Amino acid sequence: MRTLTCLLSLAALVLSGTCFADDCCKKEQFPIAAFVSVDAGLGVQIDFASEIGLKYIQMHTPSKEARTPEKAAAFKARLKELGLTPLVVFCGFDGESYADIPTTKKTIGLVPQETRAARFEEIKEIANFAKAIGCDVVGIHIGFIPLKSEDPKAHDDLVKVAQELCDYLAAQGQRLHLETGQETADGLLAFIEDVNRPNLFINFDPANMILYGSGEPIEALKKIGKYVRSVHAKDALWAKNPGKEWGQEVPFGQGQVNARKFIETLKAVGYTGPITIEREIPDQPERQKKEIIEAKNLIESIAKELK
Ligand code: MG
Repeated sequence: MRTLTCLLSLAALVLSGTCFADDCCKKEQFPIAAFVSVDAGLGVQIDFASEIGLKYIQMHTPSKEARTPEKAAAFKARLKELGLTPLVVFCGFDGESYADIPTTKKTIGLVPQETRAARFEEIKEIANFAKAIGCDVVGIHIGFIPLKSEDPKAHDDLVKVAQELCDYLAAQGQRLHLETGQETADGLLAFIEDVNRPNLFINFDPANMILYGSGEPIEALKKIGKYVRSVHAKDALWAKNPGKEWGQEVPFGQGQVNARKFIETLKAVGYTGPITIEREIPDQPERQKKEIIEAKNLIESIAKELK
C-alpha cells in the first residue's frame, strides 16, 4: 500500500512538472548530503561528496562565468558521472560580507536597497542555472528582514520582492528556500505568511540560530517545522553577547545544537528528507573532509536508532 501511495505521489509530482528529490518516495530516511562549492562559497569540493558515497548535494552557485548554458550542461553531465543529485543551489553575491554582524546586516541578500535590483536579476540567472542542472530549489540568505513594527515600508517592499521572486521561480517549477539565521522563528514565520506564496519554504540551519543569536534552534524548529523542506547539519557555540557578536562554528555534534535532539525533532515535525552536512572551513580542507565524515557517521547512527 505504501509503495502504491508512493508511486501515485511520484506520478502526481511528475505530472505537475515538479519532482523534488526530498519528496520522492521517501524510501530512505534522512539521506545524507554535503554542501559543496565549485568556484565560490565555503563548501567542500564536489568530488569529495562522491568519494564518500553520497548521492545528494547542496551547492553554492558557481560564479557568473560558470553559469552559461554550455557550462551548465557540462556540469549536469559531471553530476551524473559522479552520481550526485543537486537538492538546492544557494545564491551568493559579490559584495556580501560576513565579517561581523553589523557588516552582515548591511551587505547580505536582498535587504540592501542599493544592490537589490541587480541581485534580483542575478537570482533569476542562478535559478536558470539551477533549472539547467535539474535542480528545482534555490536557496538564499535573504538578509535581515526589517520588522514590520519598526519599518513597515521597508518590510512591505521586501515582501513584494520576495513575492516577485517566488512567482518567477514558480513559473519554472522551482521553490525558494530561506536559510535560517538572521530572524527569530516568529519573525521568519510572520514574513513567510506575509509573502504568502506556495513555493516559499525554509532551509533550516540550526547552527545559524546560535551563530546569529536568533533563538534556541530546537524550539525554533518546532515553531517553523511545517515550512522546512531542506536542512543543514551544522553546529555552533553561543557567543558571549548573542546577536552582537558571532558565535563559533564547530563540528556537528560538538556544539550546542544537540545533534540527537535536532534529528529527533526533524522527525517529530514530519521532516525525514535529506540532511546536508555543512562545514564552513574551506581553508582547512583535510580537516573539513574529516569532520564531514564524522558528521555523516553520527547522523547515520542517530537515524538508525530512530527507524
Ligand atoms: Mg547553512
